[in-house]
Amino acid sequence: MSEWNTRKAADLYGINYWGANFFRINEQGNVEVKPAGTTGPGLDLHNLVQDLQERGIRMPILLRFPDIIKSRIELLAGCFSRAIEEAKYTGVYRGVYPIKVNQQKHLVEEILEFGQFHRMGLEAGSKPELLISLAQMDTPNALIVCNGFKDQEYIEMALIAQKLGRNTIIVVDRFSELQMIINASKRLSIRPQIGFRAKLSTSSSGRWAETSGSKSKFGLTPSEIVRGVECLRGENMLDCLQLIHFHIGSQIPSIQNIKAAIKEGARFFTEIYAMGANLKYIDVGGGLGVDYDGSGRSDSSTNYSEQEYANDIVAVLQSVCDEKKIPHPDIISESGRALVAHSTALVFDVLGHNENALNEFTLPNADKESRLVQDLNDIYRSLNEKNINEYYNDLVEKKRDTLQLFTYGVLSLEQRAKAEDLFRAIATKMVSIAKQNPDMEEIRYALEQELSDIYFCNFSVFQSLPDSWALDQLFPIMPIHRLNERPERRAILVDLTCDSDGHINNFIDIETGGEQKYLEVHELKQGQPYYLSVFLTGAYQEILGDLHNLFGDTDAVHVSLTENGYQIDHVVEGDDVKEVLQYVEYHRADLLERVRKATESSILKGTISRSEARLLLEHYERGLSSYTYLTEESAVPFYPQKKELSHGTNGTDHTVHQ
Ligand SMILES: *Cc1c(COP(=O)(O)O)cnc(C)c1O
Repeated sequence: MSEWNTRKAADLYGINYWGANFFRINEQGNVEVKPAGTTGPGLDLHNLVQDLQERGIRMPILLRFPDIIKSRIELLAGCFSRAIEEAKYTGVYRGVYPIKVNQQKHLVEEILEFGQFHRMGLEAGSKPELLISLAQMDTPNALIVCNGFKDQEYIEMALIAQKLGRNTIIVVDRFSELQMIINASKRLSIRPQIGFRAKLSTSSSGRWAETSGSKSKFGLTPSEIVRGVECLRGENMLDCLQLIHFHIGSQIPSIQNIKAAIKEGARFFTEIYAMGANLKYIDVGGGLGVDYDGSGRSDSSTNYSEQEYANDIVAVLQSVCDEKKIPHPDIISESGRALVAHSTALVFDVLGHNENALNEFTLPNADKESRLVQDLNDIYRSLNEKNINEYYNDLVEKKRDTLQLFTYGVLSLEQRAKAEDLFRAIATKMVSIAKQNPDMEEIRYALEQELSDIYFCNFSVFQSLPDSWALDQLFPIMPIHRLNERPERRAILVDLTCDSDGHINNFIDIETGGEQKYLEVHELKQGQPYYLSVFLTGAYQEILGDLHNLFGDTDAVHVSLTENGYQIDHVVEGDDVKEVLQYVEYHRADLLERVRKATESSILKGTISRSEARLLLEHYERGLSSYTYLTEESAVPFYPQKKELSHGTNGTDHTVHQ
C-alpha cells in the first residue's frame, strides 16, 4: 500500500471541495479553519476543541465562526457589484437575510453588523420574525421585507415602523392581504410600500423545491395580480406597489432552473410596470445553493458558482427590461443558506464502538454442532479465490436459513450465535480476498457495508442534524485530527437517542459524487478522545432540531480570529436536564418532591436505608442540573481516560468577553 499523507486525507474527505477555502488540513494532520479564506489566518480545530474543554465547555460543541459569515456576505455582495458594474446595469444590489434560516440572536447581530456596509436588510416570514427585525435593525436605508401569513397586528406594526425609519415593504403573499393592507393604511394614514409575490410556473428540482404553479402555498396568480393592480389604482395607491417577489425553493442545484425562474419573474416585473406601477425592486428570493458534497452534480451540490449566479440574474433582468425599455430595478436577494451554512460546525466525541469484522474463528468440536453451523464452518475453512462466488451465494442463502430455523424452534440461540459469528468471519475473509481482485468489486462492496463498525457518538441527530434525519441530506463529516494517519476502519455513526433512526449511514462519496454507506475513520485508542465534526450546519439545523429523547441544545461558542490567536465572543450554554423537562411541563421542585416522598415511605417500610435514600436524592438532584449529553464524568462504557491538559496552545492569547 502506498504511503498515507494529509493530501490523501484531503482527497478522501473532499475538504478542499466542500470547504470553500474555509477549511483545510494542516501539517499536524488536524483540520484548520480559515474564516477569511486561503490568505487569512488559520485556527487549528483540534487545539481549539481542547482549549474549550479546559474552559468547561462540553461536548458536543457547536462552533460558530462569525468571520466566515462576514466573508460570505462580502463574497455575495462582491459578486453582484462586479456583475452590475461589468454589465453597466443601473440598479443596485440589496441583500436581505431571511431570519428563519438561523434566528440565533448573536448570529443575526453579526449579520447586521457585517452587512451594514452593504445595506444588508432582513426578511421576516412571520410575526415573531418581524418583531426581531424591528428591534434589531437600524441600518439606514436597508430593507425589511415582510413575508408570510399576516394579520392586522402584523400589518399595522410594519406600517407604523416606517415612522421609526424602518424601511418595511409588505409583500402580499395571499390576495386577501391586499385589502387588509389598504384598510390599515387608511386607518393609520400611513402610505405602505407594497410588494406582490408572484406564483411562478417555473419550478426547481431537488429536495427543497417549493410547490409551483396554482398549488403553491404563497403568491398571487396572474389573474390576482391583474386584479390587485386595478384595486390599487382604484384606491389611488398604485404608486405604493414597489416590489415584485418570487421564491422557487431552497438549494437549487441547477443554474438552468434559476435562469428560467428569473426570466419568468422579470416578465411579471415588466408587465406590472407597463400597467402603471412605479416598481423599484425585484426580489429574486432565496435558493442560492451550497456545495455540501463537492460533486457539482447532485441535489446536495450546485452546478454554478456565486459569481455565475449573480451574473445570470443581472444579465437576464437587464435583457428583459431593456427589451421593454424599462429602467433596471434594484435587485434584492434573500439568500440565507448560502450566507450562514459554512459558519457553523458541530464537533462531537466518539464514546466507543462495536466491531463487525471478525478475523479469527475456531470451533473446537465441529462435529458436535448443528448441520448449519458445520456447513458454515466448512465454507470458512475452504474459502478461496476460486470458490468465492459460489460461496457468496451460499452465504446469502444460509443467512436466510438461520433466521427461519431459529424462528421455527429448530436452531438454539447458542447455535444461532455461532452461525452469526461464522458469517462475520466468512465475510471478513471474503473481503480480504475480494480486495485483491477488481472483478470482485460487487461482493466486496456488499460485504464491507455489512462489516462496517458502529461508532457510538455523543450527539443527537434529531437535535443537531434534523435534515439528515428528515430529508436524508448529506453533510460533510470527518475526523478533525489524526489525518496524517491512514483511517483503517469504516463505520456508521449512531447517536445517543434510543431511536433506530438516530444514526448516520449515508456519507458523501467524493470519488463518484454519489453516496457511500460508511465513513472512513481511525481506530479508537484507549485513553485518547476521538473527535468527528459535521460541517456546513449553519443553515436550518438549529431551529428545526427537536428534543427527541430529551437531548437539548448543545453548548455553542462564537469564535473570532484575532491578529495573534482567537477570542471567544459568546458562549451559549446548552440546555440542562431540568430545562428540557420544563419544556414538557415537568418541574424540578415537583419531581424532587415526588421522589422524596417515595423514599420516605420506603424508609418507613424498611426497603431502603437512609443513606441509600440520600444517595438516590443526591444523584437525582445532580441529574436535573446536568447537561443532557454525556460528559466525561458521566460516561461509563468506553470513555477514554481523562486527557492530560495541554497548556498555552500555540501561544495564543484568548480573551473571553461576555
Ligand atoms: C426560506 C426562504 C428563503 C431562504 O432561502 P435560502 O435558499 O436559504 O436562501 C428566502 N425567501 C423565502 C420567501 C423563503 O421562504
